[in-house]
Amino acid sequence: MNAIRVHQFGGPEVLRLEAVPTPSPGAGQVLVKVEAVGVNPVETYFRSGSNPTLALPWTPGMDAAGVVEAVGPDVPKLKVGDRVYTSDTRSGSYAAFALCEARTVHPLAWNVSFEQGAAVGIPYATAYRALFHRGRAQAGETVFIHGGSGGVGVAATQLAQSAGLVVMASAGSEAGRQLARDNGAQFVVDHKEAGYLDRVLELTQGRGVDLILEMLANVNLGKDLPLLAPQGRVVVIGSRGKVEITPRDLMSRDGDIRAMSLFNATPAELAGIHAALAAGLGNGTLRPVVGRTLPLAEAAQAHVAVLETGARGKIVLKP
Ligand code: NAP
Repeated sequence: MNAIRVHQFGGPEVLRLEAVPTPSPGAGQVLVKVEAVGVNPVETYFRSGSNPTLALPWTPGMDAAGVVEAVGPDVPKLKVGDRVYTSDTRSGSYAAFALCEARTVHPLAWNVSFEQGAAVGIPYATAYRALFHRGRAQAGETVFIHGGSGGVGVAATQLAQSAGLVVMASAGSEAGRQLARDNGAQFVVDHKEAGYLDRVLELTQGRGVDLILEMLANVNLGKDLPLLAPQGRVVVIGSRGKVEITPRDLMSRDGDIRAMSLFNATPAELAGIHAALAAGLGNGTLRPVVGRTLPLAEAAQAHVAVLETGARGKIVLKP
C-alpha cells in the first residue's frame, strides 16, 4: 500500500510517499481502508521531533475515515464493510490502510461523508473535553472561542451552541469569521484587529465571559484573564511558546486557568466522548467542516498550511 513515511525528523519535506506492506489485524484490531485523512497540528510537532519516543520510520496520523477492510479475533462490535472514523491508529492514518485498536474505531453515521468523518477524531474529542470535562460548561453560560475557524474551534462552536451556551468566537479572516457565524457563533471578532478583546467585553456589557477556549495561549493568555466573568475559566488547548500573566487578574474574580491534553483522557472518558459525538453526528447538530482537500502525496503542503493563519475548518488528505 502507499503510505507517507518519515525516516528522519525535520521539516515538511521529510514526509515521503512510499510503498509499504499492508498490515493485518491481530486480536482486538481492525484494518480500515482509508478514504480520507484528517491533518492535525500535532502531527507537525511530532514530525519535527517533539516526541523522541516515536520509532522511525514513522507514518503520521490518528484521524481517518473509511471502511472496515478486515477484522481480527475478539472484535464483537465491528464487521467488514462498516463505515467508520478513527480516533487513533497503530500504523498511522496517512496511508491507504490503517491498522487500529478496535476501541479507536467508531461507526460513521450515513449522513456524514468520509471527508467529514476524517475531521471528527481529534478536533471534536478535544473540543468536547475542553468544554465539558475541563471547562465545566453549563447551558446559559457565555463562551469565547479564541480561534473559532480551525478544526477544534468549529467543533467547539457547534458543541457549545447545541448545548445552550452563548458563543463568541475569533478568527483572523472574514471567511473564518463567516464560518464561525454559520456554525453557531452569535458574535465574532477579528484576532488580528487592535483592541478586539475590548469588543468582547462590550458584548457582555462589561461582565466578561464564563469560559474561554484558548488555541494560542502564548499569544493570548495574559489578555484573556481580564475578560473573565466572576468564577470564569480559561481552558488552554493550544500554545506554542511562553507567556506572561498577571495573577491578580485571576484572584480578583476567583478565576481559573485549566489546561488539557487529549492524550490524558482515560479510555472510559474517550468512550463517553465518542458516544456523545456519535449522537450529535447522527442527529445533525455536529457537521464537520472541510476547508481544503489535497492528495495524500501532498502531505508536506498540508503540514505547511495547517500552521498558517486563514483556517476554514479542516485540511483533509485523500489517499
Ligand atoms: P487549526 O485547524 O490549524 O486552527 C488553528 C486556529 O488557531 C485557527 O482558528 C486560527 O485562526 C487560530 N489562530 C491563529 N492565530 C490566532 C491568534 N492570534 N489568536 C487566537 N487564535 C488564533 O488547528 P486546530 O486543530 O484547531 O488546533 C488548534 C490548536 O489546538 C493547535 O495549537 C493544536 O496543536 C492544539 N490542539 C491541542 C490539543 C490538546 O489535546 N491540547 C488537541 C488538538 C489541538 P485563523 O486561521 O482564522 O487566524
